Amino acid sequence: MAYDSENIFAKILRGEIPNQTVYEDDGILAFHDIAPKTPVHVLVIPKGAYVDMDDFTANAPAEVISDFFRKSGQIARDLGVVEGGYRIVTNNGENAGQIVPHFHIHIMGGQRIEEGSM
Ligand code: IMP
Repeated sequence: MAYDSENIFAKILRGEIPNQTVYEDDGILAFHDIAPKTPVHVLVIPKGAYVDMDDFTANAPAEVISDFFRKSGQIARDLGVVEGGYRIVTNNGENAGQIVPHFHIHIMGGQRIEEGSM
């Protein structure tokens, strides 16, 4: 799938739509999900134009991928969800119900998610 530069996260990156930023640097942006499904629900996105996990892992430089996941781990630490535990989710494509076609991971924590719910 070609990258659609009018998707909502591209607009957030261009500053056209506001967001509640948790962390930002040259490579990534982390912000609160607008409709949180857990008490802590933060999205982490690369600033590069990647549609989904498949596109990101196939086409991003290795250092961009490692930087993204290393920093996501630090963001989870800073959010205080490591001790209680947290879930990382990424929806890839139609069957997963991906809504926004800019690669992102969900950091979800702050409450117990029942075993077997996924
Ligand atoms: P997914 O594409 O299925 O992984 O879901 C996209 C996620 O983006 C959903 O959890 C939405 O609540 C969230 N979302 C959509 N628009 C915004 C926004 O403008 N700010 C923050 N989160 C958003």
